Amino acid sequence: MRVLVIGAGGREHALCAAIARSPLLTRLWCAPGNPGTASVAENVAIAADDVASLVGFAQREAVDLVVPGPEASLVAGIADALAEAGIACCGPTRAAARLEASKSFTKTLCDEAGIPTALWERFDEAAPAHDFISRRGAPIVVKADGLAAGKGVVVAATEAEAHAAIDRLIGQGPVVIEECLHGEEASVFVLCDGGNAVLLGAAQDHKRAFDGDRGPNTGGMGAYTPAPALTSPLLEETMDRIVRPTLAAMAARGTPFRGILFAGLMLTDAGPHLIEYNVRFGDPECQAILLRLRSDLLPALLAVPDGALDAFDLRWSDDASICIVLAADGYPDAPRTGSVIRGLDRASAIPGVTIYHAGTVHGADGDLHAAGGRVLNVCATGATLRAARDAAYAAVDAIDWPGGFCRRDIGWRALG
Ligand code: ATP
Repeated sequence: MRVLVIGAGGREHALCAAIARSPLLTRLWCAPGNPGTASVAENVAIAADDVASLVGFAQREAVDLVVPGPEASLVAGIADALAEAGIACCGPTRAAARLEASKSFTKTLCDEAGIPTALWERFDEAAPAHDFISRRGAPIVVKADGLAAGKGVVVAATEAEAHAAIDRLIGQGPVVIEECLHGEEASVFVLCDGGNAVLLGAAQDHKRAFDGDRGPNTGGMGAYTPAPALTSPLLEETMDRIVRPTLAAMAARGTPFRGILFAGLMLTDAGPHLIEYNVRFGDPECQAILLRLRSDLLPALLAVPDGALDAFDLRWSDDASICIVLAADGYPDAPRTGSVIRGLDRASAIPGVTIYHAGTVHGADGDLHAAGGRVLNVCATGATLRAARDAAYAAVDAIDWPGGFCRRDIGWRALG
């Protein structure tokens, strides 16, 4: 089996490492990859959103399966282009990716299918939106309808904040205004083949840059799985009331969802409510989740385009798993790249520890250098989350990188 993974982050290093363990694999590429993926796959210098070059490469190399990591390649239409070329892809078409790209599309689908989510309205003009805020009061949530790179959501504590958010966002397109939900947040990841859904796991992440959930929003500073707040009954309720009805509604629209569905949830007193969908694996949740996988991942990924997931029952370790993100100083606003990182061998020798690369590069001097915002993922498994966390932080401390930082409180919701 010849497989191409698309992306260059820790998520793609973890995906490549899991796929590389499959006895079915004959050749593995990663485009564009990083020094970590180079240790388990062959890196190919093609950008994740260069659809024409990716499809051309897959055709030339007779690739059997393409696994896109980041949303950039999906939004650029990689799944549609591969389908036209007759190449299997474990990711949604552009039409199915609307679950992430348009909030009003997903909210309409939720309403039609009776899926629990915050009450909402969509506005194209500022005046009725302001009027709505004045009638409903605060707290209230204002969102850009389309993709906004994580900067399109304002949870407004006051009416003034909500009015200001409308003024900022309405120029960029329609806004969605939502009821403010209360509870703990958690994410569920599901492998979908258009009809069947196989649970990959539940996780909780940490979006803010600094300890105590302070500082600017980031791509994610750490995650752990399982998420104790998502008990088995709540997971079943999520699958029955949110995930499966979504898949049925997408199939009924003629746009079946095939790929990894990432459901962002609020665990309210009235049960799990959908906050948002993403149409790909989370980074860093993917790294933590795949460390617990005991089955061969590749046959399950192959079953996605084939619609053959009903035969799958993935096995998972009982261990807990955690991922700590090491970021370059200055991240997320202005990460300072170029600093030298040492001690990775020492850190990975700690029992239970696995290190994935994200924004790293080998310099001409042979040293490893920081080359991005999020740079390394220090992951660990353990019999308990506390044991996993202790091992991961011991590994963090064994790394010699004065130019980077991490949060010291990953897992606080579960561990206190
Ligand atoms: P991401 O960058 O995570 O993809 P996004 O820009 O697509 O986010 P959402 O996930 O919809 O936006 O919202 C971002 C955050 O805002 C959520 O993680 C949650 O903390 C908060 N939030 C969103 N909707 C609500 C709501 N209805 N009630 C309370 N909080 C909310």
